[in-house]
Amino acid sequence: MERVCLVHYHEIGLKGKNRSTFENRLLANINHALKGSGEFRARRISGHLLVEPQDGFASSAMAEAISRIPGVARVSLAYRCEQDESAYCEAAIRALGEVNDTWDSFKVHARRSSTNYEKHTLEMNQIVGSALCAAFPQKKVIMHGPDITVVVHAVQGDVYVYADTGPGVGGLPVGTAGKVVSLFSSGFDSPVATWMLGRRGAICIPVHFSGRPMTSDTSEWLCMDIVEALAPSGVVGRMYVIPFGEKQREISLAVPQSLRIIMYRRVMFAVAERIASIEGAKALVTGESLGQVASQTLENISVVNEMVSMPVLRPLIGSDKQEIMKRAEELGTYAISSQDAPDCCTLFMPRRPETHARLEEVHKAWDLFDHGGIIEDLVNNLEYVDFDQCPSYKPPRTLRARHKELLPAYSV
Ligand code: ATP
Ligand code: MG
Repeated sequence: MERVCLVHYHEIGLKGKNRSTFENRLLANINHALKGSGEFRARRISGHLLVEPQDGFASSAMAEAISRIPGVARVSLAYRCEQDESAYCEAAIRALGEVNDTWDSFKVHARRSSTNYEKHTLEMNQIVGSALCAAFPQKKVIMHGPDITVVVHAVQGDVYVYADTGPGVGGLPVGTAGKVVSLFSSGFDSPVATWMLGRRGAICIPVHFSGRPMTSDTSEWLCMDIVEALAPSGVVGRMYVIPFGEKQREISLAVPQSLRIIMYRRVMFAVAERIASIEGAKALVTGESLGQVASQTLENISVVNEMVSMPVLRPLIGSDKQEIMKRAEELGTYAISSQDAPDCCTLFMPRRPETHARLEEVHKAWDLFDHGGIIEDLVNNLEYVDFDQCPSYKPPRTLRARHKELLPAYSV
């Protein structure tokens, strides 16, 4: 009896043409994410995707890898057998016997789709139910709220039987919702914010401003480690790195100390928007959370926001730090983000940053340095790192011709 992974997704909003685009994208993303985990085949069957390892034994590690892919609502480790009652009863006994948690009650849920199997689901429920009662005499059958549900699903000539099923991350397959540019630091928030947009189907392009050459490049390496940690979800296409140290010094010498951070952030937003237009991205993303630090008051958010005309998405704006940290732990970015590294934000920090900036003063300070020239220079000195984790990412044509002079910052 073979064991396979049955992948479930939510069908809400997936009508007509959308649906096959969605399924094909998810299939391609699964194929990519499982590269290197042995020979397998992935295909569609009636409302589910099926992943069949060549050795006929899908492991829980494989199910766990699939559960992290956006668009996956649930993954079940299922036995596949013929449409024969003794075969699926045996599969059900095996499946229930393998449940690790302690349990006292169960029920059977039989289904049929795209099949001409003659038995009715009520009859299948009874047959499998009696076999399980005989095999587990000390356990109870409960129709409402049992500990375990054994699913027996007849589809296209086969029967899939499972008791072991776990939640996936949900969302939509990466590549079905366009592209976003994400302002990315090595802190806790922006990686989580990036992942959240990726989970909604967007291809994410992180942009990191480092303090280089005035600081070391540690923050850049931490950002790369974070992107690697996000690899199982396949949300990141390419990361841009912008050495910002020298320009920050120039700005810090020209403007009132308390407005430095706002000036840096206005430049960062402008550069990020330029990268977004090179990449064909339709929005920016930040990890801002209202009131968390000085730069995240409503006044400061708005004087920075006015720099750009694209929507700026802030998925964490209403989240508490605790919630964000919990998600960072689940994603595996927590330990990396806990490491301290100077980046452009710690460089030339004012002693008392402005928390309620007034637009008039911001505009005055903005004109104290050659902001246009600085933005241009930064855009002309982009560096980038490619990650082979998002199969739907296509690098921008306009940069392709310049790849040689751009020089990847690192080879990954
Ligand atoms: P994070 O945990 O994401 O670093 P934070 O709590 O440290 O956020 P800020 O430093 O005010 O808060 O940054 C707010 C947002 O600005 C970040 O979530 C991120 O989107 C962006 N940002 C901060 N630093 C950088 C950087 N060095 N490069 C690119 N974007 C940055
Ligand atoms: Mg930060």
